[in-house]
Formats: sequence, C-alpha cells, structure tokens
Amino acid sequence: MTPYQPTPEFAAALDSQDPLRGFRDRFHLPPGPDGQPGIYLCGNSLGLLPKTARAAVEQEFTAWEQLGVEGHFHGTSPWMHYHETLAAASARLVGAKPVEVVVMNNLTTNLHLLLISFYRPTVTRYKVLMEGGAFPSDQYALESQVRLHGLAPDEAIVELVPRPGEHTLRTEDITARIQELGESLATVILGGVNYYTGQAFDMAAITTAGHAVGATVGFDLAHAAGNIELHLHDWDVDFACWCTYKYLNSGPGGTSGVYVHERFANRPDLPRLAGWWGHDPADRFKMKKGFRPMEGAAGWQLSNGQIFPMAIHRAALALMEEAGGMPALRRKSERLTGYLEFLLRRLNLPATTLEIITPADPAARGGQLSVLVHRNGRALFDFLARNGIVADWREPNVIRLAPVPLYNSFMDVQRAGAAIEKWVAQAE
Ligand SMILES: *Cc1c(COP(=O)(O)O)cnc(C)c1O
Repeated sequence: MTPYQPTPEFAAALDSQDPLRGFRDRFHLPPGPDGQPGIYLCGNSLGLLPKTARAAVEQEFTAWEQLGVEGHFHGTSPWMHYHETLAAASARLVGAKPVEVVVMNNLTTNLHLLLISFYRPTVTRYKVLMEGGAFPSDQYALESQVRLHGLAPDEAIVELVPRPGEHTLRTEDITARIQELGESLATVILGGVNYYTGQAFDMAAITTAGHAVGATVGFDLAHAAGNIELHLHDWDVDFACWCTYKYLNSGPGGTSGVYVHERFANRPDLPRLAGWWGHDPADRFKMKKGFRPMEGAAGWQLSNGQIFPMAIHRAALALMEEAGGMPALRRKSERLTGYLEFLLRRLNLPATTLEIITPADPAARGGQLSVLVHRNGRALFDFLARNGIVADWREPNVIRLAPVPLYNSFMDVQRAGAAIEKWVAQAE
C-alpha cells in the first residue's frame, strides 16, 4: 500500500480511488461555521442522517394516514411483522443467524432484559466482570442488577483496569482475571469496543475464557456494531446488545439490537421479563394466560414494534449493505483511521502533550482515535469546532475523533490533521 503523505493532493488521490466515495452524497452533512459541509468526525456519538431515511418514515406516515389500525396487517410493510424485516441485515451486521437477533427498545433497556436472563447469581457464583470506567449507563445497569439480587455492588462487581502507565487492557490480563475468579464468576460483560479509548476487545478469546470457568459472556456493542466486523455466533458469545444511532446512523435515541446465541433459542425455561410481543404469535391475540416465548431473540420482545425508529434503521442498514457491508466498510475504516494516526504521529509531539490512547494495532481498535491532550485540551477542541471540525469531548481531557467510512473522506481527515498541526504550532 502507498505510504501516507500529509498533503491535500494525496488525500484527494485517495478519495478518487475510494470505492465508497459515492456514499458521502447519500447523507446530510451538517454545515460548518462557513456554511460549507463541516468535517464530521463524531459518528461514534451520533451518526449522520441518510437521505433515504425521510422517505422511509414518510412511507409509514402514509400507511398510518391511509390505513389507520389496518396498517398492522396491510400496506407495504405491515407493522405486525416489521421487526422481522430487520433480522437478516442485523444478523449479517453482527455475524449471527437471523433467529439470534431482534431489534427493539433502547440499549440500556435491552441490557437489563439480557442481564435478567444471563446474570443468574448463586450463593457461590455471583461475580460480574466489567471494564473499570465503563460507560455510565452500563455501570448503573450492573449496580442495579446486582442489588436486585440482594448483593452489594462492591462485592459482586469486579472491574478490569489497565496496568499502571497503560491506557488499555491486555487480553492476557482479562483472561487471567477470568481464570482467577473461576467458579465465583457468573457473568462477563464488556464493551465490544471501549467507548473512551476506542479499544476493540478480543471477544473470541474472552468468551472462551469465560465459558471455561462456567460464566456467561455478553458484550455491549454500542461502539462496535457498524464499526468493526463481528462474528458473535462463531465466537460463541452468549448475549449482546447495541444501539443504532452511533455507527448505524439510525437517528437520535433510535432503536436497539439484541443478540442471543442459538443455543438459547428454544429455552422457555430461561428466566426473563416477558411481554406480549415475545409470545408465540399463533395465539398472541387470544389474550390467554401463560407466557410461551417465541423462538430465539424475538422471544425477548416486550412491546409492539416502534415503527418510526425501525423505519429509519431499515433505511440506514440498507445503505450499509449497498456499500458492501462490514467487510467493505472496515477496509476503508482502517485506511481512514490509519491516515489520521499518521497525521498525528508525524507532529512528533511528546506523549506529555498529545497522546493517542487508542491501540496502535488496527485489529485492536475500531475507527475512533482517542487523543489525550495533557494541557489545554478544551482549547484544542474549541479550536477544531471553530474550524468546522466536529469532534467529541470527554472529561477530563480526551478528544475522540471518529472518521466513518460511509460519509467521511480522506480529505476530511487531512483537514482535521492540518487543523491540529496549526493549533499545536500556535500553542508552542
Ligand atoms: C452510547 C452508549 C450507551 C447509551 O445507552 P442508551 O440506552 O442508548 O441511552 C450505553 N452504553 C454504552 C457503552 C454506550 O456507548
């Protein structure tokens, strides 16, 4: 592969060779301060609006307008079965079988529903292993789950922290910790990609280690779905969930995806919180007593589907598939992020000024680079914003930059790199 160069000419050349370059025009790019499309490097927080989403929602407005309640059974895509139309693409997205996935609710809600089924502490096996400094919603979810079982969070929750002087976790330390916890470990729940550092975990190795001691293993894929390639079924992961508004471009507060391994597909005995939409559709409307779950992940549904968020999600997934799905997106993502990394490293700044805390190994990260700015981080962030570069600030001093293969160009990355270079030069 050609070595990277920092010039706009080089970035333009990469863009002209990019097989995905046409997809940028399929999104609405919010304007920057000069009225021109801004440089949006914040798809890790909220993905951009696909131009096809409006028509997809409009179609459901029309069905509602024209059909009223009959929209559940008639129209282009009857609402009664709407979630089923998302299963195939969702399964491809996370490397699962269609029976293993369902789209419903929101992420934290789904995390709770899955933990109710897969975190089943006993007197001796009650610990749950997670990342120290996990996303707050995951921390609160786990705390409250542990309390729900009458346990104390301090005793039941074990947190993984990097070695002194390091920013990310080593796989061997994670698996060693799992072995050490042994029969006291009930469940492992980690982010697939850590939201703060951008580290992608070795989910296969972690799952194997967890199963070896008899624990269940699940992942919060909020920052992994649509970002890296996933093979949940082959990795033998027990359960997972993800939101759809980050790398999946499905709108603020959008719906969420759930994965449950096929071996639990026909386990009506598994404890769960039930609702009518997870009940066997053959007699759902008989309104009888006695919950009988549907096969697979669909058996975790509670309520009738949220058609509008699902319509956006369907349009967004279709666009990703049109681009060639995760293999094609990931190929470009690695190049984009590699280019950003090159532009930052060539500034040759001491780690005490500006430090990339995301792993350097492309296999151990997604598209995002997290930059720890030791002094005046907020000033750099504000400078970027004034220059039309939308990044994302995390207290106390990290700027997250996430070029996204569907709508970001190499020129976006080049301009972000040049802006950081300019700021560094004037700050010196
Ligand atoms: C974005 C994110 C969430 C957000 O949860 P919602 O229920 O969608 O509000 C939770 N956990 C992680 C790890 C996230 O990255």
